[in-house]
Amino acid sequence: MKQTLRRISGRLATVFSMIFKVAERQTDHKKLTHHIVALNNKNSSKEIINEVALCLKDILNYRLFAFVIKKENGVDIWLDPRMYKKSLENIILKDFCIADKESLNYLNHTFHPDELEEKFNMDDLIFYEFNEENLYAKIYMLPHKNMNGYHDEVINLILQGCCAALSRQAKIENLKSASVIDPLTGCYNRREFENQLKRHIASASRHKNNLSVFMFDLDHFKKVNDTYGHLAGDKVLQGVASVVQKNMRTGDILSRYGGEEFIAILPETDKVKAMELADRLRIQISKKIITYDNDTIKVTASFGVAQLNRLADMTRIIQDADTMLYKAKLNGRNTVMPGLIKVISNKESQRRQQSLI
Ligand code: GH3
Ligand code: MG
Ligand code: MG
Repeated sequence: MKQTLRRISGRLATVFSMIFKVAERQTDHKKLTHHIVALNNKNSSKEIINEVALCLKDILNYRLFAFVIKKENGVDIWLDPRMYKKSLENIILKDFCIADKESLNYLNHTFHPDELEEKFNMDDLIFYEFNEENLYAKIYMLPHKNMNGYHDEVINLILQGCCAALSRQAKIENLKSASVIDPLTGCYNRREFENQLKRHIASASRHKNNLSVFMFDLDHFKKVNDTYGHLAGDKVLQGVASVVQKNMRTGDILSRYGGEEFIAILPETDKVKAMELADRLRIQISKKIITYDNDTIKVTASFGVAQLNRLADMTRIIQDADTMLYKAKLNGRNTVMPGLIKVISNKESQRRQQSLI
């Protein structure tokens, strides 16, 4: 009797566990469908990977999930949880043949030097790889549960949806940047400059803020091309754009206006501040050494500065900067117009007069 009861309860347990498994899988499939649909409404790589992580946490409750996308100069990494950063970094550096940790760009964290770190058992780590026309990515995961065919199926489905979304996103971003970015220097192009200037002028006159622009043109650039070749000239243009960009504020907008001529929008900046900035940049450009093959090349630039007038006239501010740039060329180049008038103290004036006697 006892044996029969035990057999029946054993069978019931198996039946219940089967029913439970079926119910659990039905719930999982509902969640999976929900997350896959959500992927289509995401507008950035970070949002897409976030959704995948939510899905995998929800269904598999992973211990570690990292999504690594290959970029031109390194990789983008999405990582959860952050405490496994160090162990995983070494694997990523090796897998993507990267020598320098500077090329690792974290999408969902900024780390502090005294961050808590933990190691994990490498043997438990599982990998997935994607190699599509415009996307190479690797996924690293430490599962909580023992993975079986069903779990693999869940992961494959969500990752397929994810990669389709990422690939579509990469195409959109390429198209967007191709229409606004100058491919040689990475600055905005002239059309985008005009769009941005319109927007900034509208905002400046609405909030009664200052706005200035500066325009600069490389001096005797034709001679650089004639002496070192056009490719060397291209490298000079890239080097100059990068120096200027690094030394401007985040809100300032640098564009390539044409050839070797650039223009920048400086929101909330009056003319004096703009002239000071232009002069600092002029000095930085003149100090920059560009190497091409065995040549070292130095260039200078002439700057014209203008401030938005009361009529908030877009054509006028560009014309004013252009006129000032022309004056800077006439004034001997490697200079800023209008120039800063330096006020010197009485003592300094006496010292200068004495040194002339
Ligand atoms: P100035 O001091 O009066 O400005 O003299 P400049 O020689 O710089 O001026 P000019 O207008 O005579 O020559 C500009 C040169 O810039 C000629 C043109 O070939 C070169 N240039 C324009 N765009 C590019 C480019 O994309 N790459 C390279 N390498 N050269 C370019
Ligand atoms: Mg020039
Ligand atoms: Mg020019």
